[in-house]
Amino acid sequence: MRELTCIVCPMGCRIKVYEDNGQIRVEDQGCRRGELYARDEMTAPKRVVTSVVAVQGCSELLPVKTAAPVPKEAIFRVMEEIRQVTVEKPVRIGDVIRENLAGTGIALIATKHIQ
Ligand code: SF4
Repeated sequence: MRELTCIVCPMGCRIKVYEDNGQIRVEDQGCRRGELYARDEMTAPKRVVTSVVAVQGCSELLPVKTAAPVPKEAIFRVMEEIRQVTVEKPVRIGDVIRENLAGTGIALIATKHIQ
């Protein structure tokens, strides 16, 4: 049995996951989203990546996040690519800063306005 803390919502349910002959059984999840999270975590774990990027001509950094969860094995490559990104002002929340980060098909988006 493996115990996971669900990170889908602030409730943070402690979910028990049992794996037997490739079959996954989930207990103590507060809702269906928690069950999906636990199953994904056991088979193909992913995380939304958050970071900041430089803004040309400005000391302020732009907060960014991936538009979707990134497979855990790609996170290092995604972070390496994000580290090289610089944007020009103005930037609006939701602007796509970079498409197809590290070949994942996932975009990097701004999470703050910078005028
Ligand atoms: S199982 Fe459902 S209620 Fe519990 S933390 Fe996850 S999303 Fe929230």
